[in-house]
Amino acid sequence: MIPEPDGLERGGKPTLIGYTKEELCTLFEGWGMKPYVGRIVYGWLYGKGMIDFDEMTNVSKDLRGRLSENYSVGRPEVVKDLCSCDGTRKWLFRLACGSTVETVYIPEEDRGTLCVSSQVGCTLNCSFCHTGTQRLKRNLTAAEIVVQVMAARDMLGCWERRDGRFLTNIVLMGMGEPLYNVKHVFGAVKLMTDGTGLGFSKRKVTLSTSGVVPMIGEVGRELDVKLAVSLHSARNEVRNELVPLNKKYPVEELIEACRNYPGLSNAKRITWEYVMIKGVNDSEEDAHALVRVIRGIPSKINLIPYNSWSGSAYERSDEAAIDRFAKILLRAGYASPVRRPRGEDIMAACGQLNSDVSQQVVMSA
Ligand code: SAH
Ligand code: SF4
Repeated sequence: MIPEPDGLERGGKPTLIGYTKEELCTLFEGWGMKPYVGRIVYGWLYGKGMIDFDEMTNVSKDLRGRLSENYSVGRPEVVKDLCSCDGTRKWLFRLACGSTVETVYIPEEDRGTLCVSSQVGCTLNCSFCHTGTQRLKRNLTAAEIVVQVMAARDMLGCWERRDGRFLTNIVLMGMGEPLYNVKHVFGAVKLMTDGTGLGFSKRKVTLSTSGVVPMIGEVGRELDVKLAVSLHSARNEVRNELVPLNKKYPVEELIEACRNYPGLSNAKRITWEYVMIKGVNDSEEDAHALVRVIRGIPSKINLIPYNSWSGSAYERSDEAAIDRFAKILLRAGYASPVRRPRGEDIMAACGQLNSDVSQQVVMSA
């Protein structure tokens, strides 16, 4: 099957980005060629980051000409490229359809993580999340998701050094709820983790969900990547307020689905994300409730000090409250649970992404 047209066309030409190896083979078979041509083009596209068909020195000139007449391998326009004082980088990409998305790169000593968006905006309206306030909403296509990784490799100049520390990990923790865009997110993740293309290890790709219970098992079976769950409270009355989806899939159902996540072990644990909000979910009782509900599940906990944005009703928990909370988790056996905010000065920290250009102008004024 040939992919539907998407938001990456350049000069009226559809892009090859988003095509699987099988789809490329089918395309070239349709042109009367041997399927192996599809595998060669696939390698250039995702393995080497080709941005011009003429780079393909091992395919015929005819084929290169025919491809550039009919297709593009265009990247989105880079509207903003912001660098934080801590090294975090945030890009605002404009897709050909006019929508914009944000992608964040977080360098660490031994690795580089890319935080990728799966939707423009989000329909779930979690009360503490900036993305949830955004009007414009659209599912990104597989091409538009995977191209964020490709554009990041372009910008970092790291196609050649992909096993180095430059871009080793991917987290689907940008804008949007990945499990409300399953078809395209699954397609994109399969492209990211294909060893003959982009080649990310499944252990280094993490999908974060606010708790779309019916799809959780599918992530493990189909993609076999790591799962992060935005829990934020182990108590239904609090979680209903923070993550309204909890009214549909309450804590007990969410925990049960996670307990059954395929392939869980000490090496493959669930990451529980827990935003620390002053006076809302940061008491000692809250910490004990958290330890209680996840008991028996191979787990890692990420306490995320709340990142505020203008117009938000919440405040970050005090250091003392975060310390107290973390100590209870430590005593229960969960090591280094606090995640240091990164890229706050460029609005790149968790939950601060909002691709609405008009709002960005207001914020930087
Ligand atoms: N929709 C998915 C993935 C995107 S959100 C999800 O909710 O899991 C990525 C993470 O950022 C989630 O854990 C989310 O709860 C967290 N987050 C959202 N707003 C935040 C804020 N203002 N401060 C800190 N973390 C936030
Ligand atoms: Fe959407 Fe996740 Fe933000 Fe909730 S936290 S509004 S699910 S992006």
